[in-house]
Amino acid sequence: MGTQKTVWDNPAEIIRHLQPDHPVMAFAPTVLQDRARQFLDGFPGLVTYAVKSNPDEAVIQNLVTAGIQGFDVASPFEIDLIGRLAPRAARHYHNPVRSRREIAHGVREGILAWSVDSRSELEKLFEQVPTQVDGQGVEISPRFKLPVLGAAYDFGSKFGATPDLAADLLRLAAERGYVASLTFHPGTQCTDPIAWESYIRVAREICDMAGVRARRLNVGGGFPSHRVVGVEPDLQSIFTEIADTVTECFGDDAPALVCEPGRGLCADAYALITRVKGVRDGTDVFLNDGVYGGLAELPIIGNIDRIEVLTPQGKPRTGDRNGRVIFGPTCDSVDRLPGELALPDDIAEDDYVIFHGAGAYSVVTNTRFNGFGAMTRATVMGFE
Ligand SMILES: *Cc1c(COP(=O)(O)O)cnc(C)c1O
Repeated sequence: MGTQKTVWDNPAEIIRHLQPDHPVMAFAPTVLQDRARQFLDGFPGLVTYAVKSNPDEAVIQNLVTAGIQGFDVASPFEIDLIGRLAPRAARHYHNPVRSRREIAHGVREGILAWSVDSRSELEKLFEQVPTQVDGQGVEISPRFKLPVLGAAYDFGSKFGATPDLAADLLRLAAERGYVASLTFHPGTQCTDPIAWESYIRVAREICDMAGVRARRLNVGGGFPSHRVVGVEPDLQSIFTEIADTVTECFGDDAPALVCEPGRGLCADAYALITRVKGVRDGTDVFLNDGVYGGLAELPIIGNIDRIEVLTPQGKPRTGDRNGRVIFGPTCDSVDRLPGELALPDDIAEDDYVIFHGAGAYSVVTNTRFNGFGAMTRATVMGFE
């Protein structure tokens, strides 16, 4: 389709010129770089990018250009990707369960920061990971969890030690000569700073229980993107709350802070352009993309309602909006978006439905199930 070579003004221009029949992910590098600078200027510590949310090379390259100097990696593939695209950047291997082969890969690659949430996995690290690499101390960060608060999705059900166990792991790592730090991940799409506050308070308690001052505190990802029209994320107030809570809990002896946003950095830099295959008997809308494609996350964390509908000539549909059921293209009945979405009454076959803020957990989880999912990429100056 030639979508790779050109920079378009906006999604409407792509629609007018190409009338694409497959889903297109429109990426705005300037939006990504602006968001990265917002984190770099506002967050009171080191900003690392959680690669899993969108590992597109263009994303990594634009983040490096904007000044991002660290990455949260979870697999040998992601370690190598960042080693190739950002060779000077820090790589934090923050997947708390790894095979011995994966640990060996991280050691060969000179990984300096590891997370852990159990005694068994800590033992594996002790066996394989040196305490120093080229004169630099190697960090081990117990990851702890609390009951979920304020998150759209419960990350604690898979990873994270209880505070008691985290205190044991912190002490053991320190005794063994590693740089002992702490990490947590409050969940994803956390719009309320309370999600971080309670974790930071418990981090202080864990340090007291262990009798160890954590060198760094990684406050995870979870920073929200703009998914719902009326709820614009307020990143600066979250950054301020994090800084204030750390000062309140740790005083002058505060650990250096790190964050590892995925969604909060990449999501709003993309819009997903889908096409209407049919409006079944004037009611249900069938799109050429759905939960096996770029909209995989919606049944898990809720709809994106920042939606525009354009004609094949790129003109906005302006009819009154009413709730419609939206289905994806596959023959699987789970391939539908949750609830109903408000779409203009004059929506018609061959129109385009644009989902804004769709850059996280979408490009990377797209499948070819049932022969659909031939997603392409395009670069845009912006979204208006
Ligand atoms: C997925 C993940 C992140 C990023 O989460 P977002 O909600 O996309 O910001 C950060 N840290 C860890 C450990 C993760 O697993």
